[in-house]
Amino acid sequence: MADSKELTSSCFCGRSTYTFSVPTSSLPLDLRLCSCDISRRTSGTLFTSYITVPAGNPEPDLSTLTAYESSSILTRHFCSTCGTHMFLEYRADEHFEVASGTLQLESTDGIVDYKDHIWIEDTLDGGASQFVTHINDKCLSRYLRKAGESEQIPVEWNHPSRPPASETEFKKEEGYTAVELRNYIYAHCHCRGVGMYIWVPNHELATSPYPDLLIPFNLPDAEEKRQNHEDVKWFGQSRKQYKDNAYMQPTRHLAGLCACKSCRRASGFEITAWAFVPTSCITLDGGSNVGFQRKPFWPDMTTLKEYRSSEATTRAFCGTCGATVFCDVDRGEQKDGPWGGIIDVAVGLFASKSGTRAENMLAWWPNRVSFAEEALNKGLVKGLEEGMRAWAERNKGEDYVAVMEGPEWEKDNPMVQKRVGGSE
Ligand SMILES: [Zn+2]
Ligand SMILES: [Zn+2]
Ligand SMILES: [Zn+2]
Repeated sequence: MADSKELTSSCFCGRSTYTFSVPTSSLPLDLRLCSCDISRRTSGTLFTSYITVPAGNPEPDLSTLTAYESSSILTRHFCSTCGTHMFLEYRADEHFEVASGTLQLESTDGIVDYKDHIWIEDTLDGGASQFVTHINDKCLSRYLRKAGESEQIPVEWNHPSRPPASETEFKKEEGYTAVELRNYIYAHCHCRGVGMYIWVPNHELATSPYPDLLIPFNLPDAEEKRQNHEDVKWFGQSRKQYKDNAYMQPTRHLAGLCACKSCRRASGFEITAWAFVPTSCITLDGGSNVGFQRKPFWPDMTTLKEYRSSEATTRAFCGTCGATVFCDVDRGEQKDGPWGGIIDVAVGLFASKSGTRAENMLAWWPNRVSFAEEALNKGLVKGLEEGMRAWAERNKGEDYVAVMEGPEWEKDNPMVQKRVGGSE
């Protein structure tokens, strides 16, 4: 039919595919970015978006998928093998929505149009809605709860119950260890089958090459630069000078957004949010007795499933609710020792008192969305990059805005954003 467009959705491993058609007259399709607790905790990312399947299309085949009833009205369906979120099912009228990152297209520009942010209320701090305010020069509406029916709120909105920053900052008292001070954030998926403790940085022994977030892999000289021969602790941010000036201690883990094809296909959503955490800062218990375990990841955590998405990348997701949990990239470093290098942890799982950006433990890199050139929707990723830079400008000097330190960066990298008027 000339007056309809066929769209195909697929999970990463290809065991689930679905083709449906939408009337050409409905293009571009209006999409909303949902920041609700359930979206974040079932996806591991900071917002999700779905495309409504119009009536008259065939029912999707759910046989290779796991169903998760995430609320009294919705069931989420994700691939049992690779974890990709495929569908949202409204049980009342049995209509389906398709996760927008699963579309098998080179680009969704002109096919979808991101209109608004919904359920910002759940984020406490505005979440990722503060990172994207405009797309294609159009301002996104910002709803506290449902679109059209709830209050619209400004960019700088904070939940009235969000504690002041001073109350969420981790204590650093001399003579006490991080364990004694309980300096951690609990991170968990929606069903709570996966849960772990992320501790304040302790990077002294970890070592890792640079990720694409900091050294874009497609730059001509990236291969050599990203090796990080100087052993810059790029993952430890906001170094505070200790009282006696003896050494600098990082206070935050680096976090950033990724638009790569592999993350998108594994999660089902366009943009994923990662914290780069040394595995020495992750434990299974709040007493810090059960350290991180790789290969397999914590076999006692029975809902955690692994999927090898490339030769160098192992991903982990919750087999009950589908949440993306880890992306473990082999960047060529030594990971088998007791310190184990770095692992990417899905930020949507962090349950921080300060809100979903977890600014009391994370510093966000505002100068690039990782693999922006692989984005499915150029408008969205451009809006994010511009929005993150504007966010960094508004919050200049705050510890949760990441800056790069190290000899290479200070000298000649145009991406370096030097701290101005900072708190140090
Ligand atoms: Zn699959
Ligand atoms: Zn789960
Ligand atoms: Zn990625």
